[in-house]
Amino acid sequence: MKRRIFLRNTTLASAGIGFLPLSCTNPKLDAEYLILGGGISGLFLANLLEKAGKDYMLLEGSDRLGGRMFTRTDINRDVGGRGIGDKYTNLLPLIEEVDQEMIDITSFMRSPSAIYLDGELRHPWPEGQVKPQMHQFKALGKENHLSGLDEWYQKESWDEPYADFLKRQGLTDEEIALADISANYNDIYETSAINAHHSRAFGKYNGSKRALNFKGGTKSFIDKVAKTLKKPVLTNKMVTKITDADNRVTVSCEDGTSYRAKKVICTLPFTTLRDVTLDVAVNANQAKAIKELAYTNITQIHLAHSEPYWETDGIPLDMWTDTPIERIMNMSSSPTEREIACWVNGKGTAFFDAMSEKEIADFTINQINAIRPASVGKLEYLGTQNWGKYKYNKGAYVEFAPTQPNLFLDMIKPAGNIHFAGEHTAHKNRGMEAAAESANRVFKEVVF
Ligand SMILES: Cc1cc2nc3c(=O)[nH]c(=O)nc-3n(C[C@H](O)[C@H](O)[C@H](O)COP(=O)(O)OP(=O)(O)OC[C@H]3O[C@@H](n4cnc5c(N)ncnc54)[C@H](O)[C@@H]3O)c2cc1C
Repeated sequence: MKRRIFLRNTTLASAGIGFLPLSCTNPKLDAEYLILGGGISGLFLANLLEKAGKDYMLLEGSDRLGGRMFTRTDINRDVGGRGIGDKYTNLLPLIEEVDQEMIDITSFMRSPSAIYLDGELRHPWPEGQVKPQMHQFKALGKENHLSGLDEWYQKESWDEPYADFLKRQGLTDEEIALADISANYNDIYETSAINAHHSRAFGKYNGSKRALNFKGGTKSFIDKVAKTLKKPVLTNKMVTKITDADNRVTVSCEDGTSYRAKKVICTLPFTTLRDVTLDVAVNANQAKAIKELAYTNITQIHLAHSEPYWETDGIPLDMWTDTPIERIMNMSSSPTEREIACWVNGKGTAFFDAMSEKEIADFTINQINAIRPASVGKLEYLGTQNWGKYKYNKGAYVEFAPTQPNLFLDMIKPAGNIHFAGEHTAHKNRGMEAAAESANRVFKEVVF
């Protein structure tokens, strides 16, 4: 049934005619609500509208659903968001509704990590000395916490370059430079300290005792959510223009099709929305945020191991390094899996940007072999996911630069008949839980 709808639309679309679903009561509109983006926030919203009996249509630019919840089937790996906590109260009901099985990975998250610094593999790290990656967390611990999850955008006095905050806490320039290697930001000197305070608050107030992964990969969950949707969900619909005029919104796509609705819910990350022509009454701060909001670059280099070489050299698999591969992580959800990834953050990703896949493979395996001779002949390169260069996201997650938290309240306001959802628009949460929170907010905004 769903397939027939999709094919019918494709035929009409290629004839240059907009799709007119039978369910739409207004013949001038294709749907009452048009959802842009088929990541978890868009799918979550579609599921809410479906259950409320509303008329909606979803347009997704790429050829698959899920967005940053991405199981790459060519390498059989989850390369985006996949870990959730047992306090994800917005997302968990949907997981339950679609009967998605979860795997407890708490023990993997708590595994120890070795340090490779200045050409030397150090394990165990000397007792009493702070590990290079831990300096920032120690400094954060000295400051009062945010008193609530949504305080981050109201705390103007804490909005300063993160490096300035760390300096005030007594960190030396060398310690800050070491923390910068693997801090989850593009550049510790250019990001707002508010991100780190918010992240810490998220850990405190929404912190979970258990970490969970999706059994069968995130694709399994995304497929199940998609199955709950009866209205058109169209892929390969890259939005290029949005016009809000005469009480209807017209959305134009790269393939020449266009769709009309009473209201549009836009879940596109601002990194890609900034490439869309907006004939919409956005406010000044919103326009600035759409143009400038910062997102973190992440490049993951996925590997498989043929033998547990860490059992040979007696050093933990997980490593923090001051080399271009930055961190090495066990990505397995069970002891029988063989998943490893190098996780490169922020400006360090530029090192790999111009390399071919073969160059990345050779460099990475040689680097690990040099640090851990026990790994020689036991690593296989699978593939690289460069989120900063990935056309449909151009960044892994939102990261507010100094002064950008001031834009938050204005940037999420409806602009005429356009409403904004997505991870970057959440008041309280981060990651997938933020995407789900934003969907719950916008559902109330548009329906009630
Ligand atoms: C490497 C990585 C690790 C992560 N780890 C975690 C984690 O452990 N826990 C956690 O909670 N979160 C994590 N996250 C974050 C989490 O995955 C995201 O916050 C969440 O999936 C975002 O959902 P979304 O719907 O807001 O956005 P997206 O998933 O980005 O959805 C937006 C959709 O819009 C589409 N699109 C973009 N431009 C256009 C256009 N012009 N026209 C039409 N469609 C368009 C995209 O293709 C995409 O499908 C991680 C993310 C990454 C990248």
